[in-house]
Amino acid sequence: MRFTMLASGSKGNCSIIDDGQNSFLIDGGISPRTLETHLKISGFTPKRLQGLILTHTHGDHWNPRLLAYCAEKKIPWYLHKTHARTIYDQHSEFKAFYESGLVHFYTANNSFETATGWHWLPVNLSHDSLETFGFRLDIKRDQRPCISIGYLADLGIWDQVLARQFTDLDLLALEFNHDETLQKNSKRPPFLIQRIMGDEGHLSNDQAVSFLDYLKSLGVQKLPKHLVQVHLSEQCNSPEHAQESLKLFLKDSAINMKVQTAQSKKTTSPINLLERNLFAFAEHIKENY
Ligand SMILES: [Zn+2]
Ligand SMILES: [Zn+2]
Repeated sequence: MRFTMLASGSKGNCSIIDDGQNSFLIDGGISPRTLETHLKISGFTPKRLQGLILTHTHGDHWNPRLLAYCAEKKIPWYLHKTHARTIYDQHSEFKAFYESGLVHFYTANNSFETATGWHWLPVNLSHDSLETFGFRLDIKRDQRPCISIGYLADLGIWDQVLARQFTDLDLLALEFNHDETLQKNSKRPPFLIQRIMGDEGHLSNDQAVSFLDYLKSLGVQKLPKHLVQVHLSEQCNSPEHAQESLKLFLKDSAINMKVQTAQSKKTTSPINLLERNLFAFAEHIKENY
């Protein structure tokens, strides 16, 4: 299983999860051309695309041209009903896409299974878009999760109920939107600064680290094995700032978490995830035979 962030930040968000036979996109805020270029660079093929999961309808998360591309290639979209209304208002061709049976609705807190047999749990996030969701994806073998991935971007605040749904992950893509000092001292208009730093805005580096601190307080094994820092602001953050914010946290030698930082104009290198059960099975064979 591989996770790759194809694009991240206010100019477009798109990530891909691929098991070698099937792949899914989370968000589609890029053009078909950019998608195909990224897929090629990362060694993926569009033929494996089985669907797109939409988190919300801000312009950096869906692209009308990508919608047309998916309609042509018969790639279904999974979204919330309120998303359908917003997209239809902006893009009347959505009606034909919907009528072709390629639109599947999910509801908050109700896990759904896609044709790939993957289980997705949408959870509500506090953000200034109609409905915004984070996702926990569990890929199961013998009814037990063998790979679990979390995706949390575009949220102004987090709470313990939310955090507890994102424990024991192989990978977590977590928003590190801005450095609070850079944000406060930026030349942005005050209303924008307030919006971004508000409860329905974006998660700062410090807020993201406190999220991880909370997971750690539940037990160090509750932390994800891989962390991808996503949705970095180009004006009020930098990969260096985002990484620096984690420095103290990572000093704890009990933490064994690999970190990657997504940059807006670069595709991250694919992160390979091992199936937990298979690995445990191999250990069991080694120990017992
Ligand atoms: Zn947003
Ligand atoms: Zn966004």
